[in-house]
Amino acid sequence: MTRNINKVLIANRGEIAVRIIRTLKDMKIKSVAIFSDVDRDSLHTKMADESICVGPRNVNDSYLNKMQIINAAIVTGADAIHPGFGFLSENPSFAKMCEIYNIKLIGPSSKVMELMGNKDASKKIMKSKGIPVVPGSDGIIENIDLAKKLASDIGYPVIIKAKSGGGGKGMRVVRSEDELEVSVKSAQKEAENAFADRDVYMEKYIESPRHIEVQIIADEFGNVIHLGARDCSMQMNHQKIIEEAPAKYIDKETLDRLYEMSVDVVNEIGYTNAGTIEYLVSSDNQLYFMEMNTRIQVEHPVTEMTTGIDIVREQINIAAQNKLSYGQEDILITGHSIECRINAYDSENNFLPSVGKIEGLNIPGGYGVRVDSAIYQGYEVLPFYDSMLAKIVTFGKNRDEAISIMLRALSELAIDGIKTNIEFNKNIIGGNDFLSGNFSTSYLEDMLKASIDKKS
Ligand code: ADP
Repeated sequence: MTRNINKVLIANRGEIAVRIIRTLKDMKIKSVAIFSDVDRDSLHTKMADESICVGPRNVNDSYLNKMQIINAAIVTGADAIHPGFGFLSENPSFAKMCEIYNIKLIGPSSKVMELMGNKDASKKIMKSKGIPVVPGSDGIIENIDLAKKLASDIGYPVIIKAKSGGGGKGMRVVRSEDELEVSVKSAQKEAENAFADRDVYMEKYIESPRHIEVQIIADEFGNVIHLGARDCSMQMNHQKIIEEAPAKYIDKETLDRLYEMSVDVVNEIGYTNAGTIEYLVSSDNQLYFMEMNTRIQVEHPVTEMTTGIDIVREQINIAAQNKLSYGQEDILITGHSIECRINAYDSENNFLPSVGKIEGLNIPGGYGVRVDSAIYQGYEVLPFYDSMLAKIVTFGKNRDEAISIMLRALSELAIDGIKTNIEFNKNIIGGNDFLSGNFSTSYLEDMLKASIDKKS
């Protein structure tokens, strides 16, 4: 190791903080949890070797409080910070602060993060490298007249997207000119509330595509490999809910192109650490780059299960300036893995968030089941943070086996005291369309619309 990493501060909470602490323990590296005052009894706070309060429950004062987090790393003597996903994980100014204070951020440099983290800027880079991107505005939408002109040039439907977007927020599909102004304004408002950045841009709306993403890992010596692709097409309101690997419904030739493009661009921009390149694949097999996530993703376990590689371990090894210990030819993708996100919301009632105490809990287990979560019996689900409670991940020798193991796992899972989407997940996983792979990113919305039309 040329950079010593003996203690890592995790600038996150919940399931991903717990997941990172587990690998740190496996690697015999000390862990430091940060917590807001209401998270004192959270599992990540209890599991870490040390824990330190960084502020009150409001995320701006705690999990997004950059200077306070840097101070926490300094006083606890942490050599590195793992940002997880969400919060500060794609914030170039936080990455820059880590560089200034000589604390290694487990991720790419602030410069590369800035380059790729900005959605419309990264599209320009990809375009300049000859990678197909979704046609759209060259930059942000400056005024509604230009937006109208652009939309009629691109052709409806179009989608308005937030420049700093994430989690499907700040997006609006627009099918005709008379909806455009209202949609742009409401997307700007939602983006401002969610990301403190109201800039939006426009793209052609690709009808019923698949969302396919390539997992990359790159060391600081120019070695770049991919760990295969994930299919994240099962979505609700542009948010992933079920993900799987490998991407079984994309032909080998198309996948090979995606791998090649992804590795090439990561090489060219000098990207380091783990990253994901997201694409849309249309029903007529056209590929479009969508965005790059410069961090670990929620759905990374399905890749871990099919490659046998602990991606968080690799992230830490890369940050410690170790060379990748294997080449592309060593990566073998076997079997099939599926992940269901279990959220605290009421799928019977407009997906409204549900909060309260977990009165009873049964976590599934057995062959082929992995559960990543931060909940326990007696844990209080709070309204201030993300609603994801757990990720149920299954692994089978093929897709059918992974599905039947998932159905068994979901039927064992019981979370009493709050509303969850367990039944909702069960219905999708147990349905014929999921079994035959007959779905796209608009599947659930189309189903919902069809059932409303039927009722009225
Ligand atoms: P976020 O970062 O908010 O998750 P993404 O850019 O990754 O946003 O897009 C999330 C999802 O929104 C995609 O998986 C896809 O379902 C949908 N989407 C985004 N852009 C388009 C587009 N141009 N055409 C069709 N669907 C899109």
